Amino acid sequence: MPSRIMSGNLAERALPSLYGDSSFQGLAEAALEASYDSILITDNNLNHPEIVYVNPAFCEMTGWSRDEVIGHTPAILQGEETDRNVTDRLRRALKAGRDFEGRTINYRKNGRPFHIEWRTSPVLNENDEVTHFLAIQRDVTAQVRLMQRLRQQAESDGLTELLNHKAGENELKLAIARAQKEKRPLSVSLFDIDHFKTVNDDHGHATGDLVIERIGRLINQHLNRQDIGVRWGGEEFLLIFLETDREAAQQAAEAFRRLIANMRFHDEISVTASFGVAQYRSGEDSVALFQRADDALYKAKKEGRNRVCASKP
Ligand code: GH3
Ligand code: MG
Ligand code: MG
Repeated sequence: MPSRIMSGNLAERALPSLYGDSSFQGLAEAALEASYDSILITDNNLNHPEIVYVNPAFCEMTGWSRDEVIGHTPAILQGEETDRNVTDRLRRALKAGRDFEGRTINYRKNGRPFHIEWRTSPVLNENDEVTHFLAIQRDVTAQVRLMQRLRQQAESDGLTELLNHKAGENELKLAIARAQKEKRPLSVSLFDIDHFKTVNDDHGHATGDLVIERIGRLINQHLNRQDIGVRWGGEEFLLIFLETDREAAQQAAEAFRRLIANMRFHDEISVTASFGVAQYRSGEDSVALFQRADDALYKAKKEGRNRVCASKP
C-alpha cells in the first residue's frame, strides 16, 4: 500500500487527535528517528533517486553518516553480490506504483556485506502523486547465517563432512537434470570398503570409524572442485563426476582406489575398496543410473575386490 506520511488522509484517520496539531510533525519526525528499523527516503526520480533522509538506525546499520549519503543514490549500498534481479524488480514495482518487498545483499561503508530484508513504498501527496519513496530495511545477516549453518548441518554427514545420503540423492537428481538439458556427459562411481567387518572385528569400531572419516577427508582433498562426494551409507561412498565421461570417471575411480590402498591407519592397518562406475544414459533416472553403478560394484566384488568395474555405456 502506498502511504502518505506527514500529511493526508492516512495520518488524519490513524491519529485524529494528533493530526492538525502542530506537534504532530514533531512526533512523526521523532518516530522516524527512534525507529528500530533502518529508514531511508528518496525523492521520486526512479532513474536517479536521491536520498533525502536517513534515520540513525540506517547510519548504525551501514556505517555511513547522514551527511555522507544525503544527495546520493541508494546505489552506494550496492556491490558485487547485490542481486541485480531484485533491484530490477524493485524498479518495476515502483514504476507501477506498487510496494516492493525483497531480500538482497548490501554493503557497509567499510565494504563488509550484510543481508537485508526490505520494503519500499511510494509516498503520495494529497493529489495521489508520488513525491518520495520510503524504504524500511532490516539487517537479517544473523538469521541468514543461521539458516546456512542449519542447512549445512542437515546436508552433511557428521563423520566425514561429505554430503549425506539425502543431500547426495538431491544432488544426483540435479546433476542428471543438468546433464540431460545441456547434453553433457555425467558419470558416477559407487564404492564400498572391502571386508570392512573384519576391520571392526579385529581393531574395534572406533578404528572402523577412523577409516571412514579419513576416507571422507581423502575424497574432500582429491575430488575436483565441481565434483561431489557423498557418504551414501555405512562404508559406501558415491562420487558424482560432472561433465565427465565413463573413461575419465574410471580413471578418477582408479586413482581413488590406489590412494585408499596406500593409506595406513594406526601405522599398520590398511584397507581396499571396490568401485562401480556408470555413465548417465540420456533419459534414465537417478535410480536406474545408481543401479548400474551398484551392479558394476557387485561385479568388482565378485571378481576379487580392490578393483574398478564399469557398466556398459
Ligand atoms: P564386502 O567386501 O563384501 O563389502 O565386505 P564387508 O565386510 O565390508 O561387508 P558389508 O559391506 O556388508 O559390511 C559393512 C560393515 O560396515 C557392517 C557394519 O557393521 C560396518 N559399518 C557400517 N557403518 C559403519 C560405521 O559408521 N562405523 C563403523 N565402524 N562400521 C560401520
Ligand atoms: Mg564393504
Ligand atoms: Mg557395504
